[in-house]
Amino acid sequence: MTVHVYQFACLQDNFGVLVHDSGTGATAAIDVPEAAPVLKALAEKGWALTDILVTHRHADHVQGIPEVKQHFPKARVVAPKGEADRIPLVDITVGEGDLVRIGGLTARVIETPGHTIGHIVYWFEDDNLLFAGDTLFSLGCGRVMEAPMAVMWNSLEKLADLPEETQVYCGHEYTLANGKFALTVDPGNDMLKEHLAFAAAQRAAGKFTLPSTIGLELAINPFLRAENEDVQAALGMSGRDPADVFAEIRERKNKF
Ligand code: ZN
Ligand code: FE
Repeated sequence: MTVHVYQFACLQDNFGVLVHDSGTGATAAIDVPEAAPVLKALAEKGWALTDILVTHRHADHVQGIPEVKQHFPKARVVAPKGEADRIPLVDITVGEGDLVRIGGLTARVIETPGHTIGHIVYWFEDDNLLFAGDTLFSLGCGRVMEAPMAVMWNSLEKLADLPEETQVYCGHEYTLANGKFALTVDPGNDMLKEHLAFAAAQRAAGKFTLPSTIGLELAINPFLRAENEDVQAALGMSGRDPADVFAEIRERKNKF
C-alpha cells in the first residue's frame, strides 16, 4: 500500500491534487477548481476517480465537480457540513475528527473556520500529508472573511500543532507574492530569505513551490509566527496576545 500525490496547475494560480492509493486503486481529488486539468491528470496517471474531498465552497474549488462527475459518476463527493448546501452534488458531509477512507488511506477532518465559516482540511496522519485548501498557504494564509480574526488564529494553531514533517499542500501557488509581504514583518529571518530565493528559482523554472512542511512554515510563515519575539518587535507589539498580533499581520497583508 503506497500513497502517491500528484499536484498540477488549474485556473490562474489554483492547484489540483490527486491522492492515489496503489494498494486499492482508490484516487481522491482535493477540490476541483476546473474539470479539464483534473480529467487530464487522471488520464495521464491511468487512475479512476473514487472520491472528491472538498475543503470549502468557493467556486475556484468546486466548480469542476459536475463535469468530473459526468466522467466518474460513482466518485463520492465529501464536503464540509458547515457549507455543504452550497456545494454541488454532495454525497456525504463531514466535520471535526471525522475519518474519511480513501481505499486503504485514512484522512482525518480538521475544521478550520476563518476563510469561510465551514472550511475544513484533510490530514492523512499515517502518510504525513495535509491538504490545507485556502486556510494555510506557504508564507501566507487565506483571507479571513467569515469569522473573527481570533477564530482564524485558532484554526491556524491547530495546523501548527501537527507534526513538523507533515507535508503541506495548499489551494494556491501564492508563495512569491506572500514572501514579499512576509519580509516586511519578519525582516531578519534568514531562512525566509533563503526560501524565497528557492521559490523564485522554482517559479522561474516553471515549477511549483509546494508542497511545504509544517516545520518549514513554522520557521518562515509570519501568520504562524505571531508568538515570535522578532515578529512582534517588528510590528511594535512585543508581549502582546498572539491572536492580536495575528490580526495585525492579516490586516497589514490585506492592505499590502
Ligand atoms: Zn477560497
Ligand atoms: Fe481559493
